[in-house]
Amino acid sequence: KHAGKNGVKRYHASVDAALEEHKRLERDLRGALGRGELHLCYQPMFHLGSGQLLKAEALLRWRHPTRGWISPAEFVPLAEANGFILTLGEWVLQAAMAQARAWQGGQWPVRLSINVSPLQFAQPNFKETVLAALRDAQFAPQLLELELTESIVMRNPEIVRRNLQELRNEGITVAIDDFGTGYSSLSYLRDFDINTIKIDRSFVRDLSTPRHAPQYALALVEAIVKLAGSLDVELVAEGIESREQFELVRSLGCDVGQGYFFARPLSASEFARLLGREPRQPVTFERVREVLS
Ligand code: C2E
Ligand code: MG
Ligand code: MG
Ligand code: MG
Repeated sequence: KHAGKNGVKRYHASVDAALEEHKRLERDLRGALGRGELHLCYQPMFHLGSGQLLKAEALLRWRHPTRGWISPAEFVPLAEANGFILTLGEWVLQAAMAQARAWQGGQWPVRLSINVSPLQFAQPNFKETVLAALRDAQFAPQLLELELTESIVMRNPEIVRRNLQELRNEGITVAIDDFGTGYSSLSYLRDFDINTIKIDRSFVRDLSTPRHAPQYALALVEAIVKLAGSLDVELVAEGIESREQFELVRSLGCDVGQGYFFARPLSASEFARLLGREPRQPVTFERVREVLS
């Protein structure tokens, strides 16, 4: 009984500490933007058939002054919970497009993928926010892709749908991220006009190192390939870490690949090095691996 009481006390103490830590991180994040602690990395995606560079995904990075690098998997949900993702997301749109515009210099059309929280999509003025960022950066809407996940329960699906439709009318493309892991991936396909499906990396990992019956992993990826083919959407495999996985997803019929096997997320200057000096010279993943090694 005595020990139990102590246990409860300890439990309360650790919950309090965790809450305190959570609040501190939240406060820090709000100031991080102004202090220049946030920046973007860019991870290339390649056409699996030709090996050619197709586009880059912008990924947030936070260097905390005392805690060091904090993963977006940790701080993005925090920002979604308190609404700060709206400010952060607008900054990401502006910063990523300005960067991609600087790379292309009017010559090399770097397509850009940007992660967008469902909370951003649910804002009635989201379309205006995106269009303003496009205008400021003088970035072509046809080169912009927005990645949508289901990280929180989607509010206002009607507004999301309208925003998506209007953005599609502007020439912007839309991808479903982490496909197969959420609760409503299939209903997204039904309800929204989607251009790209990104297969979650857990499916790619299971192809070469199955946690369950190996035939399941294969059957699932085959089914997604078939689905994408029938819907005429582009299929991207995330998280390709080995040549074996690369060859597997390519042979199964995935169009595009992303992962450490090709390149990790790169700093803006590293990415610029990949593009080379010669405009329109094809940039293949073989060349990228060479440049980065
Ligand atoms: P995501 O959009 O699915 O991004 C892909 C994640 O997989 C990235 O993690 C990337 O670094 C990682 N990755 C890429 N290739 C490999 C691989 O071969 N193996 C493994 N194990 N991982 C790989 P990251 O950068 O930590 O981002 C985590 C998540 O945070 C993203 O997942 C995205 O949901 C969210 N996120 C990142 N930046 C933003 C942003 O600007 N806005 C919003 N709303 N969310 C963001
Ligand atoms: Mg993504
Ligand atoms: Mg993903
Ligand atoms: Mg993810």
